[in-house]
Amino acid sequence: MLLGRAALSQQKKPTRIILLGTKGGPRVGEIGRSNPSTLLLINGVPYVVDCGYGTSKQLLNAGIALNQVRYIFITHHHSDHNLELGPLFYNAWITGLPVTVDAYGPPGVANMIRDFFNYQKFDIDTRIEDEGRKDPRTLLTAHEFDKPGMVMANDDVKVGSFLVRHPPIKHSYAYRFDAWDRSVVISGDTAYVPELATFAKGADVLVHEIMYLPAIEALLKRLPNATRLREHLMAAHTLPEDVGKIAAQAEVKTLVLSHFVPGDDASITDEMWAEGVRKHFKGRIVVGRDLLEI
Ligand SMILES: [Zn+2]
Ligand SMILES: [Zn+2]
Repeated sequence: MLLGRAALSQQKKPTRIILLGTKGGPRVGEIGRSNPSTLLLINGVPYVVDCGYGTSKQLLNAGIALNQVRYIFITHHHSDHNLELGPLFYNAWITGLPVTVDAYGPPGVANMIRDFFNYQKFDIDTRIEDEGRKDPRTLLTAHEFDKPGMVMANDDVKVGSFLVRHPPIKHSYAYRFDAWDRSVVISGDTAYVPELATFAKGADVLVHEIMYLPAIEALLKRLPNATRLREHLMAAHTLPEDVGKIAAQAEVKTLVLSHFVPGDDASITDEMWAEGVRKHFKGRIVVGRDLLEI
């Protein structure tokens, strides 16, 4: 029997977005924003996009039991996006993982998982033998892709990827989740790519990275490799005005700022992050913070 959207909505749970970590970069802070990760709950099932350090802890803080995690997506292989890929799965396994986990991402995901299991071989083998646990190596499957396109689909969601610009990394992707009730695009790390607007066209929510130049320049003043670092940052991240342009061109309903660079400068207010964006985007702007739900 075919069900209409209204009938479906009585059976399926609404899609939820929870920002787990909103600070760009791998440095771990004592306080403030956690390293990058975004959670989508689609019909009650957790989809984790990127696994910066602290992702397991932030999932727990968001009220998600780790053994509920079913899907993991990696945007690219900077460590602020993948450092906890193996450990997150391990933490789920040790919680009592009931089902398999599928991990999607650019080439390197399978190796990383294999290397992690090797890194923890002693512990894993001991616990299988000693505690009668299932072999975790049979429960986590890597799915790699080396060009943009459809990543996966099930009854609740279709997931697609788009190649963004994050030099020197060749494989850096944005993801689009067209869930049964809502569409969500996550930019990953990227410089300004006008074509991202086409990929994000009409999405309900666009989660986009952002870099605040004045704070970066103040930081750079103190560093000997300032010129080189400035070039890298400018080529690899997006300024507020350009984030606004993408959101406006894509005609998204809500723009969520996350992956703040720098993410640990408390002197940058929400208004300062949003100001440049607003010059171009007239829709709803959410300045992200950890554990905020959209
Ligand atoms: Zn990053
Ligand atoms: Zn990056």
